[in-house]
Amino acid sequence: MPKTVVKASVLEHTLIGPQVRRLTFAAPILAQQALPGQFVHVKVTESIVPLLRRPISIADVNPDNGTLTLIYRIVGQGTSLLAEVKPGGQLDIMGPLGNGFSLETERPLLVGGGIGLAPMVYLAKSLCPRPITIIMGGRNKEEMYWQEIFQSLCRSIHITTDDGSLGRQGFTVDALSDMLSADTFDIVYACGPQPMLEGVARLATAKNIRCQVSLEDHMACGVGACLSCTCAATDGKRRKVCADGPVFWAEEVFS
Ligand SMILES: Cc1cc2nc3c(=O)[nH]c(=O)nc-3n(C[C@H](O)[C@H](O)[C@H](O)COP(=O)(O)OP(=O)(O)OC[C@H]3O[C@@H](n4cnc5c(N)ncnc54)[C@H](O)[C@@H]3O)c2cc1C
Repeated sequence: MPKTVVKASVLEHTLIGPQVRRLTFAAPILAQQALPGQFVHVKVTESIVPLLRRPISIADVNPDNGTLTLIYRIVGQGTSLLAEVKPGGQLDIMGPLGNGFSLETERPLLVGGGIGLAPMVYLAKSLCPRPITIIMGGRNKEEMYWQEIFQSLCRSIHITTDDGSLGRQGFTVDALSDMLSADTFDIVYACGPQPMLEGVARLATAKNIRCQVSLEDHMACGVGACLSCTCAATDGKRRKVCADGPVFWAEEVFS
């Protein structure tokens, strides 16, 4: 898998939801290589602090104009510094990293929770024109800016919110359970909080449907050298989320 470090010019950097920003930058080489499910490792400032890059999923790619788009939530020091970068500024980006989603499907079902919906955008775009169904979960209506993003990509959109302010009240897994009983899918793709991924994997496995999960563990080097992001696999060995993942077949990481 090729890895490139580029100085990318920031083209657009806008607030799209509460503490969530969309960042588009020019990186023609990465735009030619990037696959859905892969991520980039972003050096958020030119200074030495913070030392570590921050991993962010590739949310969209436009190979024609050579741009990549990230969607990220501001949660701490790194993402707060990233949020200060203005259009016209430059970012040091390494990527594309990790392994992406399998695109072998005719009837895909996507499940995304919160900011875990970010990699689903590029996945959905790559699966078009196949009929895509998506379950999107968030805390409340204000967090469902995703609806607009997925509208043109998906045939069928199902929303769950924790407080019931939009769509069904509850979790994505509750909606998934009903949908797997009512319709036929040949793969389930999921990205979001760990308990959600475990629930999705359990339901898909029970229905004998292939399932891929994208893990977002804390990581440092991003290229499989430091082992800080390893997770336990079902064969008793460990996997590096950065280099073996972040996308795994569910049965590889959840029993
Ligand atoms: C492969 C991969 C893809 C990712 N894609 C995206 C994305 O598309 N959009 C996005 O917003 N975020 C994404 N993340 C998470 C993102 O990397 C972290 O939110 C970011 O590194 C936090 O940096 P920070 O310095 O702002 O926060 P820190 O100061 O490092 O941490 C602030 C808070 O966030 C928590 N946190 C930090 N990293 C993670 C993590 N990986 N998972 C859960 N909690 C974390 C910390 O425990 C702490 O509570 C991804 C992570 C990985 C590994």
